[in-house]
Amino acid sequence: MNRERLYRTEAIILRRIDFGEADRLLVLLTPELGKHRALAKGVRKIRSRKAGHLERFMRTSLLLARGRELDVISQAEVIAPHPHLREDLDRSALAHYAAELAEALAPEGEESRALYRLLSDTLDRLDGGEDPQRVIRYYELHLLEIAGFRPQVEFCVGCGEPLREERGPYGFDPRRGGVLCPGCARGAPGAYPLSRAALKGMRFILRTPYPAFRTAPLRAETLREIGELIGHHLRAILERPPRALAVLGQLARSAPSEEQPPRPPS
Ligand SMILES: [Zn+2]
Repeated sequence: MNRERLYRTEAIILRRIDFGEADRLLVLLTPELGKHRALAKGVRKIRSRKAGHLERFMRTSLLLARGRELDVISQAEVIAPHPHLREDLDRSALAHYAAELAEALAPEGEESRALYRLLSDTLDRLDGGEDPQRVIRYYELHLLEIAGFRPQVEFCVGCGEPLREERGPYGFDPRRGGVLCPGCARGAPGAYPLSRAALKGMRFILRTPYPAFRTAPLRAETLREIGELIGHHLRAILERPPRALAVLGQLARSAPSEEQPPRPPS
């Protein structure tokens, strides 16, 4: 094999799609190339040595060979296996959601170090048993910031005035991507009510490093409210609403599927 065709990268496995008889197409997030697709040959064979290093949500070190249409994985060595993200139903659903959002918002073929670091830390935290609601709220808001969709929480998206300390209720307008002051929120079509606590919570999460946020006194109820508003925000931004968002709501009733249906590579 020609050496120039080979390159190394770290990657997080976002999604796996069965391909041909024994292969898999992997959707990866990498620090240098953003979202990237690669072919893992023979990994559905029982004796495949690579297969155990290419499970969903793993962080792995890869050696790839440039291909005409798709790059091919030549070697794989797991760095962070994240076993609980495949074994534990709740954490698995959240990992699916986190990976789906990263796939939707990551640029293809562009450096994405901040996003890579954020997703890697998020999967470590979920796997390590941190409070999942905190982990995911932090991930969502910081992912939106990195991707250029930070919700406007400093100025009213209606009148443009700085958002002052008021009793509220404020409003959240997904189409305008941010918060409405209580005056503009009254009777605004398509706006959702937003409590003062949730507004302060969103600001706090956006400006606080995770280690300080993880122990900060924020009520579960406030985190849930923030989560609902982010859900509206995401539905307004993304062409397709996150599939896993619906799954999270149904967790009590049904389990998410391990793989998505096969799809030809694009
Ligand atoms: Zn206003």
